[in-house]
Amino acid sequence: MKIGVISLGCAKNLVDTENLLGLLNASGQELTTSYQEAEAIIINTCGFIAPAKEEAINTILEVADYKQANLKKLIVMGCLAQRYKPELEKEMPEVDCFIAIEEYKHLNQILSKALDITIPKTYGKVPRLLSGKPWMAYLRIADGCDNRCAYCAIPLIRGPMRSVAEDALVEEAKRLVASGVKELNLIAQDSSRYGYDWDQKLHLSHLLKRLDALEGVHWIRILYLYPDEIPDDLIATIQASKHILPYFDIPIQHGCDAMLQAMHRRSNQEEIRNRVARIRASFERPILRTTILTGFPGESLEAHEENVSFLDEIGWDHLGVFTYSKEEDTPSYELEDNVREEEKERRKNELLMHQEKIMEMRRKEWVGTKVEVLVEAKDALTKMYIGRCALQAPDGIDGSVRFQSEQDIPMGTFVDVEITKVAGMHLLGHVVGEN
Ligand code: SF4
Repeated sequence: MKIGVISLGCAKNLVDTENLLGLLNASGQELTTSYQEAEAIIINTCGFIAPAKEEAINTILEVADYKQANLKKLIVMGCLAQRYKPELEKEMPEVDCFIAIEEYKHLNQILSKALDITIPKTYGKVPRLLSGKPWMAYLRIADGCDNRCAYCAIPLIRGPMRSVAEDALVEEAKRLVASGVKELNLIAQDSSRYGYDWDQKLHLSHLLKRLDALEGVHWIRILYLYPDEIPDDLIATIQASKHILPYFDIPIQHGCDAMLQAMHRRSNQEEIRNRVARIRASFERPILRTTILTGFPGESLEAHEENVSFLDEIGWDHLGVFTYSKEEDTPSYELEDNVREEEKERRKNELLMHQEKIMEMRRKEWVGTKVEVLVEAKDALTKMYIGRCALQAPDGIDGSVRFQSEQDIPMGTFVDVEITKVAGMHLLGHVVGEN
């Protein structure tokens, strides 16, 4: 059977999709990226917040419509199925099967039955099939979360934190590098807590040292660090490493202590300020990224203004902003959602406007410097090469480096580029050497 897979949501969900692709591939099924060719489509959904749920439902409805005349089967799995399986089964009879995350250990049996095929292999026991650029891979070091941020449904969906054994991760990294991966991006719901579920100690630093020593790895980047879990030894490990980028993705969620407390976050302004200062004192050019949630119940205008001025004070290189949405069964569900939707949007836009100025200033600091760029595409129209430097994670949030070159540069190689200009989120330059 020709099967197409649609992956929605974050990089953590993408790893599940790649595990599914690996399972189907190892079991001899034919995979396709073409709607026209597919006989069955599996949608791996996200169900984290309102816009993600909306996107998932719209995608299911669209494919269900297409299924009527064109598909034999439609399967839905992932976070949305985990959260709302009974309701979805009732509301969407056109979907042949909903599979919750907790059922993945039996995924081969469930899919075999639903698709009327044979899948002899076991989910998670066969190598995953990378779905993106062959030189970049995510390495999921843990799943689930033991934090209980008041607004967040992730612990309900993904369960408690389960760190992947260090040896298994090193083996997976070796396999990825042997297959041509040059950039590893470590992910988890809370990467800085890696290993804490084993013995209440942080093990990220130890894991990083082993990954850094692997032959063939070029860049290692860590995403999703909790502000109070960036100890000095982690900073020292990154400082002493050959391949770990000084890229600190620290979702702080808010810049006002009262709001952080209301959100059940452990950190506060002072701690964040100190950690950022420590990082800045330790690296020549560290990259700092954060995420902010605006419009949480009780967020007064004063709290919002404090949030904005803390954003200005820290001067993050990159920022993502979400507006609060009331999620069933989360601790904040009982609270009155008392910031109007238009006001949430206004606050989000104000934060983003401030960030735009900060970002412009931060980006200008790169002009005149030489950066190492991983080349990923060439624009057919402008003939400019497009790549990313240490400043830019692969999830599309941080922009790119664009440059001209007389030489033909193969995709997936590293070149040195001198930055000459800033164009919005992007850096422009010219190539000065190949690595
Ligand atoms: S750290 Fe907080 S926001 Fe992040 S996944 Fe865990 S509970 Fe959710």
